[in-house]
Amino acid sequence: MIFANGEVRGLKKVAKLLQKYKEAAGQDTNKSKCNLFMGGITLGRRRAITQELGVEEGALPETYLGVPIFMVYKWPMSLIEEAEKAMRNLLWTGNPAERKKTTVSWDKVCKPVEEGGLGIRKLKDINIAMLMKLAWRCKTGDDEFSVFIRSKFLNKDAAVIQYYKCSSAWPGIMLGLKEVNSRSQWAIGNGAKVDIWRDNWAGTCSIQEGLKLSDGMLKGCRSKVMAIITEHVVDCPDQLQTLVLNAGVDLTDMVRTDEEDTLVRCPDITGEFSTKSAFCEVRRKRNTISWHKNVWHRAVHPKFSGTAWKLFHNSAATEASAKGKGIKLASRCPICCCHEESLKHLLFECPRAIQVWGWLMGKFKFRGECNDRQEALKKAVNRSTIVQQLWNASCIAVMVDHSLETKKQGSV
Ligand SMILES: [Zn+2]
Repeated sequence: MIFANGEVRGLKKVAKLLQKYKEAAGQDTNKSKCNLFMGGITLGRRRAITQELGVEEGALPETYLGVPIFMVYKWPMSLIEEAEKAMRNLLWTGNPAERKKTTVSWDKVCKPVEEGGLGIRKLKDINIAMLMKLAWRCKTGDDEFSVFIRSKFLNKDAAVIQYYKCSSAWPGIMLGLKEVNSRSQWAIGNGAKVDIWRDNWAGTCSIQEGLKLSDGMLKGCRSKVMAIITEHVVDCPDQLQTLVLNAGVDLTDMVRTDEEDTLVRCPDITGEFSTKSAFCEVRRKRNTISWHKNVWHRAVHPKFSGTAWKLFHNSAATEASAKGKGIKLASRCPICCCHEESLKHLLFECPRAIQVWGWLMGKFKFRGECNDRQEALKKAVNRSTIVQQLWNASCIAVMVDHSLETKKQGSV
């Protein structure tokens, strides 16, 4: 599934991406099996886009009040699993319906490149990020859609209604609001927009949360912050001030201005909302690795990069053996037949591997040994950039070549 905005530049990039994919993977995209789903644009523009990409337009109901439907709903887990299964199959076999036993987990695949993944985004995280975008718009926007959503999902006290059986969009809005509320804070301007009780405006949470007040307890409490701050000082009844203090909210230095109140996103340094940054917040983060630069370097052929990536996940060596169903993994190296098969043996310790590394190091006039991946890749550290690149590409090629050789031998 590829998402893009409808600008010519974006579409050209999509077409280029598909072309690159074709060149690198040798798999063509079947345009007759593809569908385009577009929302919020004119008929003429849609025609132009379908012509540009040469793909037919799909017939799903694609908008909800002019907002792309993908953004409005919380996607059911069953749908996500089904779609990710097709994505997985497409990645490993080139066919969404054909399954292959793989040894790199989907979890590892769905990490950014610098964390050792392929940069594929989990659909659940994309879904939450989009719902957050919708919730953000609903909280801050003044357009018709935002006003509509607010009147539909908030009660008279501006509290989110707890159950709305007539709307299938409600669970999604709730989820988005929950995520957005926990990661944003109002910067007070004139205080007209901000709810004293329910909005987070001067501390780390709202007064409602801080004092653990239920919606029922706040029934009828609809004051905005503008009611308690004047131009220079906070003018707030003592009782409320004590309450506010107990909730951990500091009212000192709060000054009213003529500006509108703005909702600020806490994790983002600019304070503005973007789906990209929302995605980064919701996804699970892992440690970064350094080998991605070696594997995905432009001097390395993309086909080699793919196999090398699997090797770096310790996956490719046993792949040949695991290929046949029910066959036990070989315990001996298929090349020298006298050692236990392990990735380290195949790539560095097997007599043939030692011979190849020796020959390659001789060509580069490097000394010492290549006993493992890290050692091998570090050999050119103090050399010129061109030698470094050449060495890196050669190392990757040797490792990939060895693993492919093993595959051949293993399948005989
Ligand atoms: Zn061996």
